[in-house]
Amino acid sequence: MRFCVVGAGFSGAILARHLSDKGHSVLLIDERTHVAGNCHTERDDKTGVMLHSYGPHIFHTADDRAWAYVQRFGTFRPYVNRVKAISQKKLYTLPVNLLTINQFFGKTLSPAEARAFIASKADSSITHPKNFEEQALSMIGSELYEAFFYGYTKKQWGLDPTELPASILKRLPVRFNYDDNYFNHPYQGIPEDGYTAIVENILRSDSIELRLGVKFESLTETFDHVFYTGPIDRFFQFRLGRLGYRTLDFERIDVDGDYQGAAVINYCDGDTPFTRISEHKYFAPWESSQFKASVAFREYSRLAGEGDIPYYPIRLVNEKKTLESYIALARETPNVSFLGRLGTYRYLDMDVTITEALNACDEIDQKLKEEAVIPTFFVDPT
Ligand code: FAD
Ligand code: UDP
Repeated sequence: MRFCVVGAGFSGAILARHLSDKGHSVLLIDERTHVAGNCHTERDDKTGVMLHSYGPHIFHTADDRAWAYVQRFGTFRPYVNRVKAISQKKLYTLPVNLLTINQFFGKTLSPAEARAFIASKADSSITHPKNFEEQALSMIGSELYEAFFYGYTKKQWGLDPTELPASILKRLPVRFNYDDNYFNHPYQGIPEDGYTAIVENILRSDSIELRLGVKFESLTETFDHVFYTGPIDRFFQFRLGRLGYRTLDFERIDVDGDYQGAAVINYCDGDTPFTRISEHKYFAPWESSQFKASVAFREYSRLAGEGDIPYYPIRLVNEKKTLESYIALARETPNVSFLGRLGTYRYLDMDVTITEALNACDEIDQKLKEEAVIPTFFVDPT
């Protein structure tokens, strides 16, 4: 059979490799001039530092299958994401942990004392938090919320935290010990040669034809089936409206020596216009000392307009309604499947993206064996 896979990020690459391993002919296209989608990394011409071109990417997972899969295609070096945060001109560590609590309140509390102290600050009248703000107030109380979350979240999402779902905050732990690892997952790392090398290795297969710099809209060939990992609203020429995304602007800072001495510093105050600064050599601690110069990026978030790169799906009530209309349209469209973060309009970490793509491969095999129709969606995007 002849398949087209649109998008050479993790979703598209995994699918293309699997279909070619099964003996099918695959055309993989991407409108960008590189593979790896938003996970793309490249060596900076000026400093030699490995840049995460579309923002910092740390691989973290609890999923054995995803972890085993990526390691087939390259070496992952141990990396622990330790984020610093500036609030009201003072520096702290995130996620909120015992050091954050003790420094912020000027105390020397033990774990048990800190737990009781934060419980006394938390708003216990909120039993079922309905939004981001209520979630924060019920977990950590108003002082920590205002210092670390209120301003940052308004900048990141362009909305008041009362308008955002509680689930966004649930991504972050609160700890009553000195563990400042940003993630709770057992596996965490960054590929030694960058993510693009991993995806290039996934794509090392003779029966994949890779065409870069090619938009799906410009193709004239026909295929037995298309796997589309681009934005679902774009596939239908935005005919039911646009799904809202936040986009990011990066402002480059070049310095001799070090800029900030850490990979990521968040700027939590609302009156600082950017959300965070990333200094990319620190994402590769095994080689960071060899660079004389350094490069960092200020990150600004804004509503994505036409032509901007879609980064974070907003997914509020209006967007969800529009998404449902596109899902209905997609289900009536034969021989196309939608997957990945843009195809299903969901915020997906890399590990979830990989797991979903591998599950899709299993399902496709089964359907082809039964000579049945390949599903339009492999997960429910609502
Ligand atoms: P993408 O990587 O977006 O790939 C889709 C590809 O399709 C793109 O290359 C695009 O050019 C192409 N395309 C789209 N439409 C068309 C078309 N019509 N024609 C041709 N080509 C098209 N995850 C983590 O696990 N850890 C992190 O630390 C992390 N940090 C992140 C930081 C930021 C700022 C962002 C935005 C995301 C982060 N992620 C992180 C999530 C990660 O980027 C995604 O999980 C991953 O990129 C999803 O892969 P994908 O293949 O579904 O989509
Ligand atoms: N957040 C915040 N202050 C911070 C870090 C995060 O308010 O210093 C909020 C913000 O709303 C963000 C959410 O917590 O969108 C989830 O944080 P995470 O670090 O997971 O964001 P991402 O990696 O998606 O940028």
